[in-house]
Amino acid sequence: MTEEKMLKVEKIRRGTVIDHIPVGRSFQVLKILNISSDPGITVSIAIHVKSKKMGLKDVVKIEDRILDSSELNKIALIAEGATITIVEDYEVIKKFVVVLPDIITGILKCSNGRCISNMENSVKPSFTLLSKNPLTIKCHYCEREMETDEIFGSIT
Ligand SMILES: [Zn+2]
Repeated sequence: MTEEKMLKVEKIRRGTVIDHIPVGRSFQVLKILNISSDPGITVSIAIHVKSKKMGLKDVVKIEDRILDSSELNKIALIAEGATITIVEDYEVIKKFVVVLPDIITGILKCSNGRCISNMENSVKPSFTLLSKNPLTIKCHYCEREMETDEIFGSIT
């Protein structure tokens, strides 16, 4: 990390930094992490940050919260390519890029109300990734295809 980037993303003692979020998507990231309803968590958001790689990007910094794998998959849906940095005692202990898997299971509902995955509790929603740009997925059960806005609205 260059010094310039460090200044923009101030150091935190412990928590998670989500960098390289496509510009405008940081609010969706906060929404799926359910953070606004938890007053115990301090969140800093930087929007329209200049980025060599992306032009502009958003950055979200969450103190005292380490994300689980289902949350990371949700972030991959909304902000594929985002960089996750996990910090403990001001030190980076882990840094990686979130990548969408080819099969997406359990983190969103099928938008077809009559799909078996919505009717039977024992059937876990499962989707195949058809395209990343535009984001398109297909339900494993009813073959309904869903695109970006529909996908974002169906994340559980
Ligand atoms: Zn379906």
